Amino acid sequence: MDRNGFSGKWGGAYIPEVLYQTFQELKEEYARCRKSPDFWQEYLELMSTYSCRPTPLTYAENLSKHFGGAKIYIKREDLNHTGAHKANNVMGQGLLVKRMGKKRVIAETGAGQHGMATATMAAKFGLECTIYMGEEDVMRQRPNVFWMEKLGATVVPVKDGSRTLKDAINEAFRDWVTNVDDTHYVFGTACGPAPFPEMVAWFQSIIGMEAADQILKYHGKMPKKVYACVGGGSNAMGIFKRFLEETDVELVGVEAGGHGADSGAHAIRLSSPDATPGVAQGYKTMFLQDEDGQMKHTHSVAAGLDYVGVSPILSDLWEKKQVRFESATDDEVIQALDLTMKKEGIIPALESAHAFAGAFREAGQLSPDDAIIINQSGRGDKDIFTIAHAYADPSWKEFIIGRGKEYSKN
Ligand SMILES: *Cc1c(COP(=O)(O)O)cnc(C)c1O
Repeated sequence: MDRNGFSGKWGGAYIPEVLYQTFQELKEEYARCRKSPDFWQEYLELMSTYSCRPTPLTYAENLSKHFGGAKIYIKREDLNHTGAHKANNVMGQGLLVKRMGKKRVIAETGAGQHGMATATMAAKFGLECTIYMGEEDVMRQRPNVFWMEKLGATVVPVKDGSRTLKDAINEAFRDWVTNVDDTHYVFGTACGPAPFPEMVAWFQSIIGMEAADQILKYHGKMPKKVYACVGGGSNAMGIFKRFLEETDVELVGVEAGGHGADSGAHAIRLSSPDATPGVAQGYKTMFLQDEDGQMKHTHSVAAGLDYVGVSPILSDLWEKKQVRFESATDDEVIQALDLTMKKEGIIPALESAHAFAGAFREAGQLSPDDAIIINQSGRGDKDIFTIAHAYADPSWKEFIIGRGKEYSKN
C-alpha cells in the first residue's frame, strides 16, 4: 500500500473532514507499531496466552486419501478464542487502542461474530463497547446478541436502509464522527478507508507466517496451493501474505456463489462480471452495485461472506493475477462441510467450508508429493442454527418449535 493508502488503483481513504485528524493519529500509531519489535512480541504473547496461538496445522489424512491427490493440510483458525480468525484482528487493535489511550470502542457486525470478538476484547481491556447491528441481523442472530450483551457491550439495532451490515457500518461511522476524541472504530475486515485494510491484514498475517513454518516442518517444502474463503478478505490476506513471497505457490480465494453465479443471489465480487469498480464506505474496490451506484442485494448461506465489497488489497492482487478467484455455491458448501465432518471429525464454519469446496475440486489433480493448505477460518458448531436449517433436519425443527412452546408457557 502506498503513502495515500492505495494498492494499485484500489483502496484510499475517502473520509469526512472531521475524521481527518483521527485517521492521521491512527496511521501514525500503526506505523510506530509496525516498526516496533516490542509491539509484535506483545501481540504474540497476548495471542499465545489468551487465544490459542500458534494454531495447529492438521494433516487431513482421510480427506487426502479420499481424493487420491495432494496431501491436504488444514490451518486451524477455528481453535482461536471465540472460534475464528477474527480474534487476531480485534486483539491487535485492542493493543493499539491502549497505546492511543482511548477508552471506548465501537464496531459494526453482520452475523455477530465480529461484534462478539470485539465485545470480548473490550471486556479484557476494560473498554466501553458499543456494537452496531442491522435490526434484521439482530433478529436473525439472537444468540450472538445475547452473548455480546452478557460480555458488557451495548448492542444498537440499526433501523435504516435494508437494516443489515452496510447500514450498521454507516451508523458506526456516524458515531465515530461524534465521538472521535475518546473512541476507536474496530473495523472487522481488511476493507474500509486506509489504514484499515493494511492494518487488519498485518494482524492476520500471523496465520500465514505460522503456516509456512509448519508446512516446512511437516512436508519439507512449500505447498502447491493455498485456499481461503473471501468475505471482506481478512482471513484470506492473513494466510496469503506470507505466501505471496513464494512465487511457486498458487493462492486461491473462494467467494460465496450463493444460488449460483447466474442467479443474482450471491456475493461474487472478483470471479464474476457482476461487480464493478466503485467508491463506497470510505474506499475504492469492486462492488456489487447497480448503474447508479446503489448496492445490490447479496446472498450466501454463510453470513460472514455476504458483503457487497471486498478488500482493496485483494482487488489489486486479482487485477495483477497474483491470486486466482473462484466461487462455491451454497449446495457445494454444504457437501464439503458434510464430507469434512465425516472424514476428519472437524466442523468448519460455513464461511470456511467455501475454501474446502474450492480445494476439493482440485485436490485430485495433484500428486501425493504435493501439499495444499486450506485455511479453516472458523468453527462451525457455533453455526448450529444455520447449518441445521441448511440441512432441513426435521428433528431439529421439532426441537426448535418445542423449545418455543416451552418458553411461552411461563
Ligand atoms: C467473518 C468471517 C469470515 C469472513 O471474513 P473475512 O474478512 O473475509 O475473513 C470468514 N470466516 C469466518 C469463520 C468468519 O467468522
